[in-house]
Amino acid sequence: MAVHRIGVLTSGGDTPGMNAAVRAVVRRGLSMDDMVLGVYHGYEGLMNGNVKQLHSTDVHGIIQRGGTILRTARSDDFRFPEGQEKAVKIMKAYEMDALIVVGGDGSFRGAQDLAKHGVNVMGIPGTIDNDMGYTDFTIGFDTAVNNVIGELEKIKDTMRSHDRVAVVEVMGRACGDIALWSGMVGPTDIVLAPECPKPWEEAAAQLVQNKLLGRYTSLVVIAEGAGKAEDFAKFVRETTDVDIKPVVLSYIQRGGSPSASDRMLATRLGARAVELIHEGKKNRAVGIRDNHIIDVDICEASGHSDSFDENLYNLHGALNKIYI
Ligand code: ATP
Repeated sequence: MAVHRIGVLTSGGDTPGMNAAVRAVVRRGLSMDDMVLGVYHGYEGLMNGNVKQLHSTDVHGIIQRGGTILRTARSDDFRFPEGQEKAVKIMKAYEMDALIVVGGDGSFRGAQDLAKHGVNVMGIPGTIDNDMGYTDFTIGFDTAVNNVIGELEKIKDTMRSHDRVAVVEVMGRACGDIALWSGMVGPTDIVLAPECPKPWEEAAAQLVQNKLLGRYTSLVVIAEGAGKAEDFAKFVRETTDVDIKPVVLSYIQRGGSPSASDRMLATRLGARAVELIHEGKKNRAVGIRDNHIIDVDICEASGHSDSFDENLYNLHGALNKIYI
């Protein structure tokens, strides 16, 4: 008989590294004589009993795969007590001792609601936005930044050939980390992030100045929370003589194989979530701080990030100014 019967689901936006986390949960669980039950299509699947036992072979060859083999979903019904009660009934029917939820802030809020119904939930932070303040990094962020940098370099090549300027919109509704990190190490002149709202007039003036000083090609990265690329381009065209093209990267940012860093993070967090269940812990969220795996009460793990690094933002400005 299994020591624990552990459910695992992925929820919210898919993120590269979710598969690596699921693999770690399954294999760490099996190594400690647990039975792992995969819940398909997130909370929607949990409410509908979309559950299947996962064996070691089910997670073979998935560590390098983007997306999530368990699929993911956003469920409106689950936001309401009736939906949550349905989910708890399914957990009881499958005799789950605990449920591991891989997802972002919203998924964690759902997990907190489940905890209020008396079930044990463990959260693993999986979102490309890096918008969960209790952990230094979330699974998928590093891959997203790498994806963005690759695209910025391609865009820069073509812009340079035409002496043009581009504004590239990246994901990040409330958190500008993707914009900041890709701007820091990619070919980016200006970063527009929601946390540090640089006035568009100032950004436009910098583009004009760049042109006057002979830098005809500039790249602006704008986090979606700071405005639309289309709107910024329109503003620049209307107020200056700079020729600027808007580009929206969209889903390309979160596709593809997870980086080594995300695979490692997902593996460490997935394994730790299972170990916490064996230690008798309840309702925890795992994360990483100063390269140590930590866990906190899941109720303290949601709420927006305060981790935006203003020093890094200012450093980006200093490193990308033209000095005469
Ligand atoms: P991402 O960062 O990729 O958007 P996320 O986990 O924040 O990921 P959401 O769409 O916000 O994605 O949440 C995923 C699901 O979690 C929702 O579809 C819903 O079923 C559940 N959920 C979100 N917020 C709540 C809430 N306040 N109460 C209960 N359930 C919630």
